[in-house]
Amino acid sequence: LDALPSRSDRRVEFIWHCLADLDAQLKKHGGGLMVRLGHARELIPALAAELRAEAVFANHDYEPAAVSRDEEVASRLAQTGARLETFKDQVIFERDEVMTGAGTPYSVFTPYKNAWLKRLAMEPLRAFATERHASALAAPPRAAALPTLEAIGFQRTNLRELSIPTGLSGAQALLRDFLRRIDHYDRARDFPSLKGPSYLSVHLRFGTISIRQLVGKANALASPGARTWLSELIWREFYFQILHHHPRVAGQAFKPEFEALPFDNDPALFSAWCEGRTGYPLVDAAMRQLNQTGYMHNRLRMVAASFLAKDLHIDWRWGERYFAEQLNDFDLSANNGGWQWAASTGCDAQPYFRIFNPVSQSEKFDAEGAFIRRYVPELAKVPGKFIHAPWRMDAAGQRDSNCILGTHYPAPIVDHDEARKITLARYQEARTRASSMAGD
Ligand code: FAD
Repeated sequence: LDALPSRSDRRVEFIWHCLADLDAQLKKHGGGLMVRLGHARELIPALAAELRAEAVFANHDYEPAAVSRDEEVASRLAQTGARLETFKDQVIFERDEVMTGAGTPYSVFTPYKNAWLKRLAMEPLRAFATERHASALAAPPRAAALPTLEAIGFQRTNLRELSIPTGLSGAQALLRDFLRRIDHYDRARDFPSLKGPSYLSVHLRFGTISIRQLVGKANALASPGARTWLSELIWREFYFQILHHHPRVAGQAFKPEFEALPFDNDPALFSAWCEGRTGYPLVDAAMRQLNQTGYMHNRLRMVAASFLAKDLHIDWRWGERYFAEQLNDFDLSANNGGWQWAASTGCDAQPYFRIFNPVSQSEKFDAEGAFIRRYVPELAKVPGKFIHAPWRMDAAGQRDSNCILGTHYPAPIVDHDEARKITLARYQEARTRASSMAGD
């Protein structure tokens, strides 16, 4: 909790609601949660000793910091004769369960996905009906009331106003709603003004829905929508295994030739991006969605990330960090994978010469400007013809639509065509330098 950027954090509140829900469920069966505040490295071994536990059970975590935490917990437990037992739960296939014929990890998605699907066909999904153990629950000693958010030093956020469903029941409600739409997912998923995706990422992140349930549902359906959605769940596992096999990606480019890519890192441009004041409506709407809700549509994550790295020439790691602070579903593997994809530094990434044009992306994926108008009210009265590039309006048009450029809404902070040329030159130079060094 100490590492969090603010005392007002939707994720902490989300987890708090999920724990309150779990506690209430356990209490119905005569159990309850024991709550301790502090660092897992010390608290878990101390609690195990207090309870005279022989073993502590948890699930695998693939983030480098979590791996080191679990190793330390295991070794401290061992000192008192207890053991840490961990299991696969977050994913269908983990670590080296899906490897190439040569026994190496995959770094290209499509062959990974094919091998993943082949393995799934051979190994039917298992269900673990934990509910049947509920009646055997005993009340833990000293189970007390859950401390409030304020008592652990946090403030309430706008999570409730956003109506983000929490807990196991919230996740199931989202799933039921999505299953009614899943067959259209492939057609609706790219348009941020539509209710296309599942919005389940925060539940996958915090373990309030089972990946086995989701894959089981998607795999049982043959529609293109369900197949596309299953593919997205496999992307999630692809990035988990990349992080497991290449933990250096947390901090470094997957492709070494782009590690020395130069960036301008202009703090004023970075602030404008963070605050949704770039003058490019779709990018600004995306960033404001993130700031106001903690969610950003996948298409917009790609556009906003590309814009930071390839239009503003800011180190993709700055953007990765900002997303990590803001996203409700922040997950190191998916966030790092997404950023490295957009910056073309990652495995199976967008080729470096494909640079999203923020205006044509806007015309294609928010054609009517409905999403832009929702998040950038300054542009509400701008006619559809100019909504994607308001700087093209003449002075009279700006007056009529109550949107004077530079007063009500910023003029573009960079020229996309110019920025694009610089980006291409820098990536080409980095590649040339790397290949001449390899030849030396
Ligand atoms: P749906 O479209 O319903 O997809 C279902 C699930 O599949 C998601 O919940 C997620 O678990 C998984 N998924 C979908 N797309 C991807 C993907 N490209 N990579 C990995 N998993 C995927 N996703 C996160 O969960 N956490 C992050 O921190 C994160 N950061 C990202 C940063 C960038 C720059 C980009 C381009 C993508 C990022 N994504 C991240 C992936 C994706 O944008 C989100 O998973 C998705 O928008 C979540 O919404 P949803 O649950 O409605 O998705």
